[in-house]
Order: sequence, then structure tokens, then C-alpha cells
Amino acid sequence: MALCVGKSPGLGRNWRLELARSLQDFEGIERVFHFRPHEKERIKEVCRRYPPFITPFFLSLMDHRDPQDPLRLQAVPTVYELSPGLDDPLAEEAFSPFSHAVHRYPNRLLVVSTNLCGIHCRYCFRKRNWSKPTFFFSQWKKLEAYLYDHGEITDLLISGGDPFLMPVADLERILSLARRVRIKVIRLGTRIPVVLPFRIDCALLRLLEPYAPLWICLHVNHPRELTDELGGAVEALSKVGCSVVSQTVLLRGINDQADTLARLFMGLLSMGVKPYYLFQCDPAPGTDHFRVPVEEGRSLMKALWGRVSGLAYPHYAMDLPGGGGKVLL
Ligand code: SF4
Repeated sequence: MALCVGKSPGLGRNWRLELARSLQDFEGIERVFHFRPHEKERIKEVCRRYPPFITPFFLSLMDHRDPQDPLRLQAVPTVYELSPGLDDPLAEEAFSPFSHAVHRYPNRLLVVSTNLCGIHCRYCFRKRNWSKPTFFFSQWKKLEAYLYDHGEITDLLISGGDPFLMPVADLERILSLARRVRIKVIRLGTRIPVVLPFRIDCALLRLLEPYAPLWICLHVNHPRELTDELGGAVEALSKVGCSVVSQTVLLRGINDQADTLARLFMGLLSMGVKPYYLFQCDPAPGTDHFRVPVEEGRSLMKALWGRVSGLAYPHYAMDLPGGGGKVLL
């Protein structure tokens, strides 16, 4: 049984209240951040298309006065987001046997479990889903039948949105189905321990423990995201049998310096998180200003070699536009 004591970050903070207090529209962000008068209408338009979502915890990590603050740049809309892009850059719809599932590689199924996130990352390649009032459980019967029919699937990735924002009963239903159909590897893609660490509470830990071993793929981009609260969440997850690895998106102005990446990857490793992927930013709408050219990304990887422990060195990779899958760079 999980030990829900000590550093469990859920203690004393009501995560539902934190979630409800998140900034979720232009009026909310305008109360905190200063925008130049000539930008306001365009930022309002960005918010209509792709609303912001910022938890009080993540907000507390930002320097509100600095428009170039690397945490602010990830979450606060800017006028640059009016540039075009591909709605579905990874062609997930083309590999979708039914809504909310993506079957691109023979042995792996991705379940888009919810469209709720604890943050709306401005570079997200699934930002098309943010405003859809769709929930995975309308597809439950289809998922069950599909997994029973496709014995070749041995690896299930539960992503979103963020699976740690699903109702716990629904999350348990998926985990239990996965074990029933003998899925060997279960991965959960999440940014919640970074932006809402209090959500990693006793109820969630108790739910996860019987399904261990589980892999947690943590999305984290900057060393300032490596808080004590995140450390507590990682420790609590590890105690219930979760192995935690990280995924980082290479982003202009946020983590495109070797020193920043070295501090991030070494900091993760010292928390017990294995840096797994450094991803090229996908060409979703409004993301051109975030993208770092591949050659520059390769130079950064070279600069990191020898500077960080081998264990802290991630794969540099991109998803080929149009559904070609992941390639190493
Ligand atoms: S947490 Fe993940 S799914 Fe949610 S907005 Fe950020 S990148 Fe997209």
C-alpha cells in the first residue's frame, strides 16, 4: 500500500480549487500581465481561437513583469500565434481507427483520454482539441473491443490532454482494461506534476499502485520548472512503482541554450527522472516563432555531449509532418 505521508505534494492543497482558480480567458490574463494597447485586440483574437489555461502554481513561478520570461512564453498568448500552421501536424486523424485513439505503430496504441490540461502550452500540436467538449468515455466500448481484437498491441500510451485530470474512476477503468488484455507497457503522458503537483495526492497514488510498473512521461521544458513540489510528486510516484522519464520541446527563447538544457537535464536526473526525448517543435498553428532549426538543435546536442552525464542525455527527435512517425535527428 502506498505511503501517503512525508513529501506527498497533495497534502494541504486543494487541487480542484487550484484548477478552478486557473486563468482561462483574456480577461483573466489581462489582470496579471501587461499588454501593449495595440496588441490587445489581436491577443483577444488568439484567446478566442486558443484560450489560455494557467494554474495559480505555474503562474507563481513566472516573472510577470518580464515579457521574455521563459515560463510566461510557454503559457501566455502572444500576437505571433495568429500565424498559420497545420491543425493536425502529426496526421493523427488519418491513423485514428475511432475517435480518441491513434494506431500509428503496429504494437502501440495512443489513447487521447481527455482534452483537459493543467496548462495550454502555446506550442501544443493538439491545440485543435482544447475547445472541443469531447470526452474519451463516449468511446469506451470501441476501445475495449479494439484492444481485444488487436492482440499485437502490447504498449498503451494514455495521453490527452492530461490523464491525471480524468476522473479517477475512468482512469482506473482504462488501467484495469489494459492489464486484462495483457498490455505489457503502460505509459501516461502528463504535465500535471509540473503545473499542478498537488494533484498527485493519496487517492491518485492508491489508484496507480496496483497497476505498477507504470511509465510516467513528464513534459518539462525549463530548469525553473524543477520545483520542490515537482520533486515531491516524482518521489511519491516512484514509491508506488512508477518510473518517470521526461519529454522536452525545444523552444526558441525558452530552452534554446546549451546551458539551460544542461541545467534542465541534470536537474531532472538528480530528481530521479531520466531525460528521454528532446523534441523538435511541431508545425501547429501559431508556433513558427518557437521553432529552432534542426541544424541549431543538432549543435546544441553536440554542445551537451560531455557536459551532462550520459544518463542525462536525451534523444533529439521529431515527428515527421503528415504522419511519418518519429525520427532521430
Ligand atoms: S500539456 Fe501537453 S497536451 Fe496539454 S497543452 Fe501542453 S503540450 Fe498540449
